[in-house]
Amino acid sequence: MNSTSKYDFTIVVPIYNEEDNIDSLEKAFQDYLQHSSKKTCVLFVNDGSKDGSLEALKRICEANQDLYYISFVKNAGLSAAIKAGFDYTESAYVGYMDADLQTTPEDFNLLLEDIDKYSMVIGIRARRKDSFFKNFQSKFANGFRRMMTGDGALDTGCPLKVFRTDVAKRIPLFKGMHRFFPALVLLQDGASYKQVPVRHFPRVAGTSKFHIWNRLIGPFADCFAYRWMKPRYINYKVGDNNISE
Ligand code: UDP
Ligand code: MG
Repeated sequence: MNSTSKYDFTIVVPIYNEEDNIDSLEKAFQDYLQHSSKKTCVLFVNDGSKDGSLEALKRICEANQDLYYISFVKNAGLSAAIKAGFDYTESAYVGYMDADLQTTPEDFNLLLEDIDKYSMVIGIRARRKDSFFKNFQSKFANGFRRMMTGDGALDTGCPLKVFRTDVAKRIPLFKGMHRFFPALVLLQDGASYKQVPVRHFPRVAGTSKFHIWNRLIGPFADCFAYRWMKPRYINYKVGDNNISE
């Protein structure tokens, strides 16, 4: 058992060299936690930051109840940070948001409205505030991935998502998997997801950690890995047993 078991909803926030965003994150979550639709905590995952992020995280987690952190001993990448967040979540629902505040936690209430009817509810960045070039790369990658996976997702890169925790814990995980959540969730028998438009803002502090190569080349290869995995994914349903409560 860890502290997240006292809550209904855990928001996982991966942090890699985001020291200039920590104070704004503290403020954004202080505001959101006052009117979140579920009893909510935040779990920051420090992914081996080399700046002052860890010290800043310790400070805000000390000053606010409902804020928690775990810290990697060295950088392991965004997918690993999200996986650790899922692994350490013991509330019934788990969400994910980037540290750059390009989306707002306020919109979690919107996504949570329908989470009982779906395995996952994800945002679509309605009016994206990124450069023309980044938007173009993203549109192209989304189109190719949609064709290869048949997942129907319009914007898998949107960093605002909520899952039923049991579903999130069964997602097969590999580096880069954070771009394939809809396709990976749909591998599970009976899974479904919904897409909801959310607000998007420019990155005002810190810098983007990804560039054209790690945004396009890795995911291109991952599309083929997904096609390989799809018929091999293991689903099973336990019937009779004497172990459940
Ligand atoms: N991040 C991480 N580990 C990494 C790279 C990034 O935890 O190795 C975090 C980063 O701090 C941010 C999120 O992943 O919270 C997304 O990164 P970024 O905003 O740089 O990506 P972009 O939105 O530009 O694709
Ligand atoms: Mg970002």
